[in-house]
Amino acid sequence: MSDDDRVYSYSAVLMGSPILLKLFSHDEALASRVFRLIKQYEDLLTVNRADSQVMDINHAAGSHPVSVSRPVYELIRCAKAASAFPGSAFNLAIGPLVKRWKIGFKGDTVPPADEIARLLAITRPEDVLLDDDRCSVFLTRPGMEIDLGAIAKGYIADRVRDYLRKEGAELGLINLGGNVQTLGSPQGGWSVGLKKPFAPDALIGALEVENMSVVTSGTYERFFEHNGKRYHHILDPRTGYPLDNELDSVTIISKNSIDGDIWTTLAYGMGVEKGCAALRARPDIEAIFVTKTKEVVLSSAHLFRFTLLDDDYRVTDNTA
Ligand code: FAD
Ligand code: MG
Repeated sequence: MSDDDRVYSYSAVLMGSPILLKLFSHDEALASRVFRLIKQYEDLLTVNRADSQVMDINHAAGSHPVSVSRPVYELIRCAKAASAFPGSAFNLAIGPLVKRWKIGFKGDTVPPADEIARLLAITRPEDVLLDDDRCSVFLTRPGMEIDLGAIAKGYIADRVRDYLRKEGAELGLINLGGNVQTLGSPQGGWSVGLKKPFAPDALIGALEVENMSVVTSGTYERFFEHNGKRYHHILDPRTGYPLDNELDSVTIISKNSIDGDIWTTLAYGMGVEKGCAALRARPDIEAIFVTKTKEVVLSSAHLFRFTLLDDDYRVTDNTA
């Protein structure tokens, strides 16, 4: 490898997640500007602090609409649209349940069933009212809360890619804690690891991509155990409990990371069979399902190359 091929890595912790930026030139100033950009979006979108544009909306639940900046409004509009798919597991109004379970945060507990039932009543996406002209959002019931945790990192990864491109970078990779977006085609493509569930640092396989996003949602990233049962952070909006099916993780390969982030949640809720069927209508989006029984199912594999690295797993490729 010549000096020109060298990859320079920069890291930070933002949004409670390890952030990794890879560039093909040594440019600390550019890396700092990228981290500042991520921080600006975090400050607008976070629900983990009292102040942000999203928290302004949440504080006004049941009282009045709140006008927000155009990017925040558009992201919320996109999250509401994803929540409206028939049978969608994605729900932008899941906030009260996320806050109550506290999974991945100090004080996580299994809430009493009657409390979950009560909170479910204030998580209806149709109670999030949008006004395009005013860029305003109104949560009609007191106690409602928007949570963009399943979509914001995808949106931000796309903005980082756009920014790198605008700054003249031809190659770059941003990893927002499992949400990877890549710019350009280095020789041999970008290699992105597919993590082995519940085995920190071990990989099931590796994907090779160019100009693609790779987003993974897993049951093994944020969870707690209670009475021998594991509770993870992706909640089923129909029941109020963590989604429970045959899956350990879903990885989505797509051009835009926002689609990847939305579809990890959608496909997780659908499971392998329905997920593969739904993706047949979306050749621009591909999924890798990892099941509890150590199967790796590729919905198709035109946008990436996959190499299996762990013999305990079997690969099924549905590519026609
Ligand atoms: P995904 O599977 O993409 O999403 C899961 C997350 O989405 C859950 O954690 C929950 O927030 C939400 N969710 C759960 N069920 C559903 C559902 N059915 N539909 C829609 N959404 C659902 N973490 C910290 O520890 N500290 C922080 O200060 C912090 N700040 C953050 C600020 C921002 C702006 C963002 C985007 C994230 C922040 N996080 C923070 C991380 C956040 O709490 C989530 O853990 C993270 O976004 C999950 O991303 P994921 O890709 O792993 O999971
Ligand atoms: Mg997601």
